[in-house]
Amino acid sequence: MAQAPIFMIEDVDTATQHAATAIAEMAMREISPTPGNFCVWYNYLSGAVPELRRDLDTLLLSGKTVSSSNIQELFDKYFREPGAEERLQQTGDDLQQTLAEVIRQVAQAGLDANEFGKTLNKASGSLGAGRIDAPAMKDLVGELINATKLIGQRNQALEAQLKQSSTKITALQSRLESARRDALTDALTGIGNRKSFDLAIQFRAQQATEQQGDLCLLIIDIDHFKKFNDSYGHRVGDQVLKLVGAKLKQAVTENDSAARYGGEEFALLLPQTKLFEAADRADKFRTGLGAHSLKNRTTGQVYGAVTVSIGVSRYQPGEPLESFITRADQALYRAKNDGRNRVATEVL
Ligand code: GH3
Ligand code: MG
Ligand code: MG
Repeated sequence: MAQAPIFMIEDVDTATQHAATAIAEMAMREISPTPGNFCVWYNYLSGAVPELRRDLDTLLLSGKTVSSSNIQELFDKYFREPGAEERLQQTGDDLQQTLAEVIRQVAQAGLDANEFGKTLNKASGSLGAGRIDAPAMKDLVGELINATKLIGQRNQALEAQLKQSSTKITALQSRLESARRDALTDALTGIGNRKSFDLAIQFRAQQATEQQGDLCLLIIDIDHFKKFNDSYGHRVGDQVLKLVGAKLKQAVTENDSAARYGGEEFALLLPQTKLFEAADRADKFRTGLGAHSLKNRTTGQVYGAVTVSIGVSRYQPGEPLESFITRADQALYRAKNDGRNRVATEVL
C-alpha cells in the first residue's frame, strides 16, 4: 500500500474548517482526537486520499459504531511507514512471485521446445519413410520453416522476459539487503541493534566452542546518563548516545561486533581476544571517551565528559549464553558500585 501524504498544502481557512469538523465528528463518536485518529479524520474530510475516503464512508454507512480501533487500522493502512521487518517480508514475497514467474516462463519454453522436437521428428519420419513427392516435400519444408520461426520468436520473447525478470530480481535483492541492514541497525546510533547482538553472540559462541577459541564480551553502560536527560533534555541525551555509538564504531575491528544493547547500554563482542586483552581494550575505550568534554557547537554550552563503566567476561566454550552475559553484567555492576568510570572483569 502506497503511503499517503500527511503534509499537504491547504489554505488556512479550509484547513481550520477541516480540523474543527474532524474534532467535532470524532467527539460525537467518542473517538479521542489523538494525532493518529486526527490524521485519518482530517484526511477523510479533505479527500486528499480517495481510497481512505471510500473505506471510511463504507464504515460510516454500514450503520455499525465506528471505533478508535477502526480508525487505527485505517491509520496503519494509509499512513504508517512499514518497518524494516515488514519491508523484509514484502520483498521476500515479491521475490518469490518473480521467481515463480521465471519458473513458469522456463517451463513454457520447455514445452515449446518439446513441440518443436516433435515436429522435427515427424518431418524426419516422413523423409525416412521412403520417396516423397515434390508437393509433400514443399509442405514439409513449409511446416519446418513455420515451426522454426515460431520457436525462434518464442525464444526471443523468453529471452526478453528473462532479462526483465533478472533486472527485477537484482532490484529486489538490493531492497532485501537494505531492509535486512535496517532490521539489524539501531536507528539512533547507526550501530547494530539488540537483534544483531543476539545473532552475533550466537554465531561467535558457536565458533568459539568449535575452535576452542577465545571470545570476550564487554557491556558498556553510560554513567549517570539520566542526568544528561534531566539537566539538558532528551535531545542532548540522544546526542550522548550517538557519540558513544560513533566512538564504538571507531574502536572496532572487522571481526568485532558492536551493538546498542538497551537504552544507554552497549555491547561489544571480541572474538579471538583473551580476557586481559579485552579488559585492556575496554579501558582504552573508557579513557578515550572520557578524555573530552561534550559541548554544544552552536551555543558553546559545555555538558561535561561522558564516562562509562564496563563489565568484561570471557566465554567458556559450550556454556549457555546467559551465563556468559550474566558474568559481564555482574562485573559491570561491580564497576558501578566501585565508583563508576572504570572497567571490571568477571570473577569466576
Ligand atoms: P548509572 O550510572 O547507574 O548507569 O545511572 P544512569 O542514570 O545512567 O542509569 P539509569 O538506568 O538510572 O537511567 C538510564 C536512563 O536512560 C533512563 C532513560 O530515560 C534513559 N534512556 C533510555 N533510552 C534512551 C534514549 O533512547 N534516549 C534518551 N535520551 N534517553 C534514554
Ligand atoms: Mg543502564
Ligand atoms: Mg547508566
